[in-house]
Amino acid sequence: MSSLLTYASEQPLVPGTLARVPLGRREVTGLVWDADFAALDAAASEPVPEGEERAPLVLRPVIEALDALPPLPADWRALVEFTARYYQRSLGEVALAVLPPELRKLDNTGLAKRIKKKRDHLIPEAAGEPAQRPSLTPEQAAAMDTLAAWAAAPAPPPTLLFGVTGSGKTEVYLRLAEQALAAGKQALVLVPEINLTPQLEQRFAARFPGRRLVSLHSALTPAQRLQHWLSAHLGEADLVLGTRLAVFASLPRLGLIVVDEEHDPSYKQQDGARYSARDLAVYRGHLARVPVLLGSATPSLETWSHAQTGRYKQVTLTERVGRGALPAVRLLDMATVPRPAPRSPPQALAPQLVDAIQKRVARGEQTLLFLNRRGFAPVLHCPACTWKSGCPHCSSFRVFHKGERILRCHHCGTQEPVPRACPDCGNLDIEPMGRGTERLEEQVAELLPGARVLRIDADTTRAKGTLESQLASVHAGDVDVLVGTQMVTKGHDFRRVTLVAAVNPDSALFAADFRAPERLFALLMQAGGRAGRDADIARGSEMWVQTYNPGHALFEALKKHDFAAFATTQLAERESAGLPPYSHLALLRAEAKTEDVAEAFLRAARDLAKSYPESADVMFYAPVPPSVAKVAGFERRQMLIECASRATLQRLLALFTPELPALKNAHRGIVRWAIDVDPLGI
Ligand code: ADP
Ligand code: ZN
Ligand code: ZN
Repeated sequence: MSSLLTYASEQPLVPGTLARVPLGRREVTGLVWDADFAALDAAASEPVPEGEERAPLVLRPVIEALDALPPLPADWRALVEFTARYYQRSLGEVALAVLPPELRKLDNTGLAKRIKKKRDHLIPEAAGEPAQRPSLTPEQAAAMDTLAAWAAAPAPPPTLLFGVTGSGKTEVYLRLAEQALAAGKQALVLVPEINLTPQLEQRFAARFPGRRLVSLHSALTPAQRLQHWLSAHLGEADLVLGTRLAVFASLPRLGLIVVDEEHDPSYKQQDGARYSARDLAVYRGHLARVPVLLGSATPSLETWSHAQTGRYKQVTLTERVGRGALPAVRLLDMATVPRPAPRSPPQALAPQLVDAIQKRVARGEQTLLFLNRRGFAPVLHCPACTWKSGCPHCSSFRVFHKGERILRCHHCGTQEPVPRACPDCGNLDIEPMGRGTERLEEQVAELLPGARVLRIDADTTRAKGTLESQLASVHAGDVDVLVGTQMVTKGHDFRRVTLVAAVNPDSALFAADFRAPERLFALLMQAGGRAGRDADIARGSEMWVQTYNPGHALFEALKKHDFAAFATTQLAERESAGLPPYSHLALLRAEAKTEDVAEAFLRAARDLAKSYPESADVMFYAPVPPSVAKVAGFERRQMLIECASRATLQRLLALFTPELPALKNAHRGIVRWAIDVDPLGI
């Protein structure tokens, strides 16, 4: 697990200092770690076999200590150590991966210049008028009293802020940040998506003029990222807003951590060290003894159950601010909707829904149509033979993108122009099957002539700045109907939306992943949360769900906006099935040219793990293919490892994962393996 190397240095080096060192023939940047000299002594005093001489312990010297940069503090190092240990990665990998890449390219002089240049650029900023602070609602005020009291405790407890969408959670974050700043501390605010940072940044910047605020996320240029990171590390930035990687920002005066939309799956890193930024935020708060606030209208079941058992504290906001109303939920039974022809698929939108949208358009109100599938159609097919637009490299279909006239695989990225005729039989009439947002946009425009329709998804927002301008046109009222993927369902404070419709949410009801219902419920609650935010037009705001399963318990709970009821039934199911949070999981994944090799590797890993007595209470499932089994030409298999005790599972993982690299070498044909602790999406 460890990747510590030892070098000689004439001066003592402070742990947390960056240093240029030789590695083989290269020169690399490393980080001075808390030295364990006992290990060196032990190596030197080991008995030497008779007839051999002790090899002298020769250490290569450090080339240069990058001491222009203040050392990374002890609590940061402790966080990195914990991450490496818990997620079964090497210390060096984690430590260097979470630092800005630019940092590794500089020598001490370069670094000193960067820091000086930064300092010269600091303007003694004109402190404008802070944006008006609304007076808190009674609920917010009560929440603040409670939170402020807990925050002042010597070891503040992690707290769930459970508040319906639009209940003013962000105002609570602002007030807590205000208190932290007033006490001379830094506040760290995490958001799930890059596209939510600009609006939050605006709200914080308006409230705290004259305070230094920086963002940290992967869309920054390398130079910006270094600059923002330095601001945080040097203690100049008072507020750091960012996505999951920001949980590793070095903050010498840390006083508050907020995790907004804490349930969001994007807090989990999906490659390298597969960490959960939400869970690490809680750990970091514990290390630094600072309050951690987890905000959500639909908390993760893990967090919810911690709040129920008292491990986390909880404060609740039950009402929307300013008489805004949660939309009435209408379930539209698609089985009863007339079809254009007896055997044809139903239209994208039921006639009743089209009617409801038309009324909104006439009143100048907005509608949001939510469909979690981009592209025109997920498959192109030939009705004359059996040809479908399968991907040659993956066990999936290539998606038809009409505007670009291409077929693209969303798993491996392979794309090609749409064929003029069926590649198998030459038929000229190949047809799209199913529907993505691009097709929905087209159909909505046909069904509602004259309505201004805008689509927002990953395809329309690829160019820098387009998302901002598209959102601005929604806010400006230049859009009647907004069509989008989950990208538009989260966080946005759309004031004129009074109708939200989930066009086709059913597939998630029957997904194999045990978290699929939790995720669907959160997504629908969040989507519904975009409607009825303005009290003047909130009356009559609605959320429609087009479904073939109107009797499903999930929809029943949605109708009542009853997260607690939903969570209670879900948790009961999880408990009886022995699933998280009542058990702990790790997933071992393997990729190989053939499935046999991948499975053999996983079985061998299981046998290896079972050779340790620690495995007695650990359950190993049979290797299975994930939902998309073959990607970019490689077969994927995964094996679930489950244990009621987190500590036991951790002990076992720490014993056998270090042996997996050797096991990989023994299994020729394994391309990649990875261990995922607390996996999401299994
Ligand atoms: P949430 O984060 O819970 O979705 P927000 O904090 O975005 O809710 O609040 C919803 C809306 O209500 C925002 O437009 C916000 O400016 C406004 N708001 C929040 N708190 C108050 C308050 N105490 N008085 C007036 N308006 C408020
Ligand atoms: Zn054909
Ligand atoms: Zn592919």
